[in-house]
Amino acid sequence: MPLIGDIMLLRTFFFCHFHYPVIVFFILTSLGVTAQGQPPNIIYIMSDDHAAHAISAYGGRLSKIAPTPNIDRLAQEGALFQNVFCTNSICSPSRACVLTGQYNHVNGAFDLSGRVKPENQTLAREMGRAGYQTAMVGKWHLKEEPQAFDYYCVLPGQGKYHDPEFRVQGEKPWGKNTISRPGMHVTDAITDISLEWLKEKRDPNKPFFLMHHYKAPHDYFDNAARYESYLADVAIPEPDTLWHRDEAFGSIATRGGHDELVPHIGTSIGSRNPRRSYLRDLPARYPAEFPRNFDPQNFSDEENTRLAYNAYLKKFLRCVKGIDDNLGRLFAYLEKEDLLENTMIIYTADQGFMLGEHDYQDKRWMYEESQRMPFLVRYPKSVQAGLRSDAIIENVDFAPTMLDFAGAKIPDTVQGKSFRSILESGVEPDDWKKAAYYRYWMHMAHHDNPAHVGLRTKTHKMIFFYGCNYDGGYRTPPGWELYDLINDPHETTNLIGNPKHRSVEKQLKEQLAKLRNEVGDDGHHYPECEKVIQEFWESSEKNHKKAEKIAQEFLSRRLGELKDGNRSPRTSQGP
Ligand code: CA
Repeated sequence: MPLIGDIMLLRTFFFCHFHYPVIVFFILTSLGVTAQGQPPNIIYIMSDDHAAHAISAYGGRLSKIAPTPNIDRLAQEGALFQNVFCTNSICSPSRACVLTGQYNHVNGAFDLSGRVKPENQTLAREMGRAGYQTAMVGKWHLKEEPQAFDYYCVLPGQGKYHDPEFRVQGEKPWGKNTISRPGMHVTDAITDISLEWLKEKRDPNKPFFLMHHYKAPHDYFDNAARYESYLADVAIPEPDTLWHRDEAFGSIATRGGHDELVPHIGTSIGSRNPRRSYLRDLPARYPAEFPRNFDPQNFSDEENTRLAYNAYLKKFLRCVKGIDDNLGRLFAYLEKEDLLENTMIIYTADQGFMLGEHDYQDKRWMYEESQRMPFLVRYPKSVQAGLRSDAIIENVDFAPTMLDFAGAKIPDTVQGKSFRSILESGVEPDDWKKAAYYRYWMHMAHHDNPAHVGLRTKTHKMIFFYGCNYDGGYRTPPGWELYDLINDPHETTNLIGNPKHRSVEKQLKEQLAKLRNEVGDDGHHYPECEKVIQEFWESSEKNHKKAEKIAQEFLSRRLGELKDGNRSPRTSQGP
């Protein structure tokens, strides 16, 4: 009985050297038990592309027509964070940030080819070491096996909306052991699997950490059949910017010197982008959402945009409804089993999503709707009901915060910071971060978004579209953008070069240069790309002329590509 012998020895040591309360404190803290008692169970729920402005607790134009009562419950009984941002608005990279607590230039998941090796699956590993039982269910999207978890049941890659298959642990190598849920919608299946794990596999003697990740509402949206009539007769409210008429929005990087690039930057809802738009994609996928025998030639541009926009939003919101209903099911189980009080429930998404703002679809952009992540937390033991915070939080801060609540170790490799004190007090410490960092690397891949870097403070946003690939190639015109988020929350007016805002521009540019160094994105990863960044860092007449020339060259190349059969442009995946 060596273990019992060890414990006896340990007891003798403690009783000889310390008073009883000291011993109890030592043992409890070593187990992650806090002043509140038991360490909390943690359910981290992350949907895919569920923008904050499609959650009714965040308000906004969709809140009345498409309420999300179960997600809102977290906001009523817990905290809602207004300024939570991803550091790279795309699936795998954001997931890698959450798992490692590191920015993508450090964790290596720059783009969709990103992977996080088991030894870097820090969040799960440290939870396990702190005595937690760990599980990962649903969309994983990080290629390597989720080996640091005690249990996993994950979709391969993007996974399927219907009749989903899952990768599970087993005798065969990673990826080869699968189960399927025929006849089921993926959101229902993921909820079932998490519930089964809670009911059948959970060790009641340990706290648990469950990552519960939905595939929905990633495009192309496909809801469960029972939601087909949801919102059928509703005209979805439009964002003012849908019509892309804000001439002061964007820069030479997104519009060209004379608006000649407007059709070619950013895939569109309506017909603006001739290569890829929802007007092209959606009628064949969702014919029921369009007039019978729909032919866009028979409709005006405005009518076409409106039809595509409504089809897009309805399919998206039907997927959201499926998530909200399923969360009702999950929360009801926790309540019934008396697990609700000691379980911290977090709801977020891997990034935001453009829901037609600026006539853009998809994410990738640093614009508000895409950069912002929803973030709601319910944990009544220490998070006050109704707490609201505008502290700047980045997705790299999630792992250290959860580890902090668990009483687990936060390794030195973690770049993010715990915001546990903000959750517990509502007060932002004086030395808390003042800006969120952003870097999107996948230059012109899939959705025609130029690569960019930037920062967002509580009041302003600065974006630098440097316009090249990892190797400095496939150039698009470099351009800077500056938005005043207090007076212009929908980002309609780029203030770069505006004499009234010159001092803010100068100060933010310096702050961005400093932040790049602080987070370690100092250019050494891709020197050829960095040369372009440095060349165009200063806004000058000379650089503007060079950018105009690059815009012309890009336009000729793009028109050539379109002539060659509208093929996808060269994508920018990492080496
Ligand atoms: Ca995503």
